[in-house]
Amino acid sequence: MIPIKTDEEIEIQRQSSLLVGKTLAEVAKLIKPGVTTRELDQVAETFIRDHGAKPGFKGYGGFPATLCISVNDEVVHGIPGDRVLKDGDIASIDCGTFMNGFYGDSAYTFPVGEVNEETQKLLERTKESLYLAIEQAVAGKRIGDIGNAVQKYCEGFGYSVVRDLVGHGVGRKLHEKPEVPNYGRRGSGAKLKSGMVLAIEPMINLGRKEVAQDADGWTIRTADSKPSAHFEHNVAVRNGKADILSTFEYIEEVLDIR
Ligand code: MG
Ligand code: MG
Repeated sequence: MIPIKTDEEIEIQRQSSLLVGKTLAEVAKLIKPGVTTRELDQVAETFIRDHGAKPGFKGYGGFPATLCISVNDEVVHGIPGDRVLKDGDIASIDCGTFMNGFYGDSAYTFPVGEVNEETQKLLERTKESLYLAIEQAVAGKRIGDIGNAVQKYCEGFGYSVVRDLVGHGVGRKLHEKPEVPNYGRRGSGAKLKSGMVLAIEPMINLGRKEVAQDADGWTIRTADSKPSAHFEHNVAVRNGKADILSTFEYIEEVLDIR
C-alpha cells in the first residue's frame, strides 16, 4: 500500500522539507574551492539541530554523516570527509531532516568555482528534468509518466538515466512505497492519488548509465568516470497540480541564480 497523507500531515512534512532547503542554503554559502566536505557536513548538522530537527540520514542503515556529498563522477551516497573541493568540481549534496514525525529529503548539485560548459549544461538540464517530472505528479497519472518525462528529456541530449537507484515515497519513513524510477513507459505503473508524497530525484550521467559501488559500501560512481548530476524535491500529489514541499529558493538566493 502506498501511504496517503492527510492535509494536516502534509503541512507538518512541509516543515521538514523546507528545513532541508534552508540547510542546503547554509551549506551553499560555504561552497568554494578549498572547503572540505566534512566542514559542509558539520555546518548542516548544527543548523538542523538548532532548528529542533534531527539529521535524517545519520545512522540510517549505518550512514555516518548528515549529508551525502557526491563529487564529479560520484552519483550519490558519498561520505563527507577530508576531501577538498576544487575549482571546476560539481558536488551533489543530498540532505535529510526528521522533525515532528516526518522526513524531508532534497538534493541539489552545486558547481564549485567555474565548471566547464558541458558540465554546467548537465546540471541545468537535470534540474529541468526534475520540474518536468513534477508536472506529471498529479492524481490520475501513473508512476511511469514521471520516469518517462525525465528519460525522454535527458536522453534527448545524449545523457543517460541511472537505473540502479530510484526515487521513492517519503513521509513517516525515509523510504516508503512506491519506487519512483527516472525512466519508464507512459501510462505504466501505480496510479497516483492525491495525498501521496514522493521524493522525485533524477540522477543523470553525462556518459553511460552504468554505476558501481566503492569499497566503502556507500559511494556510487559512474563506471565510465564521467560526471553525474542529481536534484531532488519532495512533492505531494494533488488533483490538477503537484505541490512541491521542498524548495531551492533559499539555495538559489545564495547562488544568485533563479
Ligand atoms: Mg535524497
Ligand atoms: Mg531520496
